[in-house]
Amino acid sequence: MKIKSVVLENFRNYDKLKQSFDPLLNIIVGDNAQGKTNLLEAIYVSGFGKSFRTNKEADLIKFGAAYASVKIECERENGALEIIEYRIKSGNKKAFLVNGVNITKISELLGRLNLILFYPDDLKLIKESPAERRRFLNRELSHISHIYCLDIIEYNRILMQRNELLKKFQHKAGFKDMVEVWDVQLAEKGARVIGKRIEFTHSLNEISSKIHANITDYQEHLKVTYVTSVKNRENYDTIKQELLEQLAQNLETDLKRGFTSVGPHRDDLDILINDINIKSYGSQGQQRTAALSLKLSEIEIVRKEIGESPILLLDDVMSELDHNRQRDLIYAFKEVQTIITTTDVLHILDDYINDSKIIQVENGK
Ligand code: ATP
Ligand code: MG
Repeated sequence: MKIKSVVLENFRNYDKLKQSFDPLLNIIVGDNAQGKTNLLEAIYVSGFGKSFRTNKEADLIKFGAAYASVKIECERENGALEIIEYRIKSGNKKAFLVNGVNITKISELLGRLNLILFYPDDLKLIKESPAERRRFLNRELSHISHIYCLDIIEYNRILMQRNELLKKFQHKAGFKDMVEVWDVQLAEKGARVIGKRIEFTHSLNEISSKIHANITDYQEHLKVTYVTSVKNRENYDTIKQELLEQLAQNLETDLKRGFTSVGPHRDDLDILINDINIKSYGSQGQQRTAALSLKLSEIEIVRKEIGESPILLLDDVMSELDHNRQRDLIYAFKEVQTIITTTDVLHILDDYINDSKIIQVENGK
């Protein structure tokens, strides 16, 4: 799918803007604090129903204005046109319209504007704690599997109950029996979560290693594996059985600590470049490229799921990448509509990029 045009009113530092887009490459250029990210944010809000950088809806309204609106015209691969609108009035609830008709549930909005955003915070995927990588797995898997989404919610609920029990009821009569009941449920849901994550990481590894090789001119090999305490990963039953054994073996430690020390809530992704751990040893540029390769795998995954290419929004990805990587990144997704922000377009100019649409942003204009 492609965005044809965007109309903004009182959105962030924009007064009024009507901007058309190229079906392939669009480069938004401007100095710091001019409104480049704001334009991507307007598109993102229309696709996901919320911003990626604030939870306060009112922040999106231009200072001093009473409302903000975003109107996006897009074209599906079958040629159908759709107009998606987002409106927010200060003090009121936000509203979404599709082809002029109000929609009441966010779930009806999701998926209409298929977007993939990469922004500087996505580096957390590489740099920060395992929790970030689990969040990534949960988000990606929930997108493609509603069942996974339900499983992880249920797993977390059972985990909370078991932790409560460890903390508050360990001296109560019948504690051992009670904990065994929770362990069985935890192992059942946990095995489903681990099984799905192993499967997903397998395809993530295949897709992202190809993207990474492309962007690095085949100099670097990216490898992603799922890290879990479970060794017997043949199938659901072997995972469940081993998890159950580990829960029992770790009960004494868990009682001392007051929380459950094994299970998918403790797992991680191991991310290696040329067999070296990228979190500890990677350079800034390598870390950024690896984060991009992982995130951009979503394009393939979404394409497989819904049969349509998403739109790629790249906020400030060029800094820290050398000229070769910048060029290879842009070429890797030539057929996907891409909207990219940068403070300096000169570095990435070449023949293909000369054909792209360059959008100059200065002080919200
Ligand atoms: P950088 O290159 O530093 O990332 P940018 O061009 O992406 O810059 P944006 O984040 O798009 O910059 O815009 C930031 C500007 O928007 C800031 O100067 C900020 O003051 C202004 N701004 C943010 N919210 C509002 C608002 N609600 N009303 C008016 N101006 C706003
Ligand atoms: Mg910005």
